[in-house]
Amino acid sequence: MTYHTDFLIIGSGIAGLSLALKIADLGRVTIITKKRATDANTSLAQGGIACVLGEDDSFELHIEDTLRTGDGLAKGEIVSLVVRQAPERIQELLELGVPFTRDPQNPERLHLTLEGGHSRRRIVHVEDHTGREVEKVLLGHAQEHPHIEILEDHLAVDLITLCKVYRGCPKEVLGQERCLGAYILNGKSGEIDTFLSRVTILATGGAGKVYLYTSNADVATGDGIALAYRAGCRVANLEFVQFHPTCLYHPKAKNFLISEALRGEGAILLDPSGKPFMHKYDPARKELAPRDIVARAIDFELKKSGKECVYLDISHKPRGFILKRFPYIYETCLRFGIDITREPIPVVPAAHYFCGGVITDRFGLTDIKGLYALGECACTGLHGANRLASNSLLEGLAFAHLAALHIKREWAFYKGLKHPPVPAWDPGGAVDMEEKVLISHNWDAIRRLMWNYVGLVRTEQRLRLAQKRLRTILEEIEAHYWAYILTADFIELRNIAHVAKLVIESALRRKESRGTHFMVEYPQKNDNFFRKDTILWRAQEPL
Ligand SMILES: Cc1cc2nc3c(=O)[nH]c(=O)nc-3n(C[C@H](O)[C@H](O)[C@H](O)COP(=O)(O)OP(=O)(O)OC[C@H]3O[C@@H](n4cnc5c(N)ncnc54)[C@H](O)[C@@H]3O)c2cc1C
Repeated sequence: MTYHTDFLIIGSGIAGLSLALKIADLGRVTIITKKRATDANTSLAQGGIACVLGEDDSFELHIEDTLRTGDGLAKGEIVSLVVRQAPERIQELLELGVPFTRDPQNPERLHLTLEGGHSRRRIVHVEDHTGREVEKVLLGHAQEHPHIEILEDHLAVDLITLCKVYRGCPKEVLGQERCLGAYILNGKSGEIDTFLSRVTILATGGAGKVYLYTSNADVATGDGIALAYRAGCRVANLEFVQFHPTCLYHPKAKNFLISEALRGEGAILLDPSGKPFMHKYDPARKELAPRDIVARAIDFELKKSGKECVYLDISHKPRGFILKRFPYIYETCLRFGIDITREPIPVVPAAHYFCGGVITDRFGLTDIKGLYALGECACTGLHGANRLASNSLLEGLAFAHLAALHIKREWAFYKGLKHPPVPAWDPGGAVDMEEKVLISHNWDAIRRLMWNYVGLVRTEQRLRLAQKRLRTILEEIEAHYWAYILTADFIELRNIAHVAKLVIESALRRKESRGTHFMVEYPQKNDNFFRKDTILWRAQEPL
């Protein structure tokens, strides 16, 4: 089937929903989302949203903190643009009904909390489940809007561009490449439909699932990055993957974070034989060292021992204190048979946030006309080599606003565009895949490979090995891609393979250690050569 819409938004997290609400008065908005609408990293965000509101705070300080964390690669102009609009974006959320926690001393004001890397208290939050509340409120408004339809169980397979329609880029298309929509797999019918749109927006979130251990939702398979790259957009800085030091390690617990606040309250990290180890890596701060140092220390201990996890122990604190201070963590761990008042918690570091993504300008526009990328799938210049905590929800809000301004300005142009005839998806002679193990095996193989060879601590030798092994897996996937009828699992597998390849490629190019990227052979930063983005473009290095 072929469907027509004005705006095709791929993804229903904070970025996609915020934009939908801002442009719905212009025309018809179709949001497609690959599982349930609330299945998004946005729903998992705990901490909050960074915003200068405190009397002792200033935009300059927030900008400085963001630039320092970005380690030389965050772009001043973009940082300033985002930071300065935070109060307005938070005011909009308040007006929509997000119940931000109030300051108990002065309920007129929002409560501001402090997080690592911030020099002032500036995180607005809804208790410890900010993302869930923001998602609920935005989704509620979107569902009620007469111009917005939300299609769950719809997965974007590939973008449709002029060059794709013409099977190449002939003279009449050169320099005029634009996006016409996307091919979408309808999870219920199993058909791949054609969605044609005047404007298409990628709001597909991150790619934590490229790694074996991740704090991310299952939907975070880097689809937007893979789709945009295949369509001809440039992507950047994919070597900068932020790892959270402590995620619960349990075969049934997929992505539960053990908050840094535990270490703040005196929890101690123990190696697999039960001995403390942080004093070896950061004698002064030990467990309170910054995130990347703690995560790398754990990774080192795991590699050394060959064991699956280390332990975080808070059981020396009074039981009453633990129950009052960490009720959610206590209950969740208990569900998995771990009583944190009596025993240490098995933990591993986990892939948490992709700082890089699809390159955009200050309005979220990609290299292809009519195609925007917002939120975690984009590389806007805000984060550089490392993300400052609680800046990512803000980025989603800020760039949805900027993209809406641009779309409104260009609306007359977009409305006047005519689409050439677009062929329906052609499955060719594809047949049902009988042995699903071909998919599940490769999913596991890629995620393990990335975890073991392209994780927190990298070496050229391991990166090259990973590159070689991934090449073989990719050949198999590409051969199967055209032979078998596509399923959601298979499409995601191909996307994690493509993103993994881009991460490895980017990591190999950066022969220094900066931000979240740590190379054993090059432990220092090298500003003379590397103070620039790592840019990959399909026209130069086909997959
Ligand atoms: C555990 C956790 C805690 C966090 N805490 C914070 C915090 O306190 N503060 C902060 O600022 N950030 C936090 N982050 C990061 C932040 O939550 C994310 O960066 C942000 O929510 C991303 O929003 P998004 O709209 O870009 O993507 P998401 O919210 O992930 O939404 C992506 C959407 O795209 C859909 N999608 C993906 N691919 C396709 C496809 N091919 N077809 C159709 N639909 C598709 C998904 O189903 C989903 O609906 C946290 C992240 C995690 C995982």
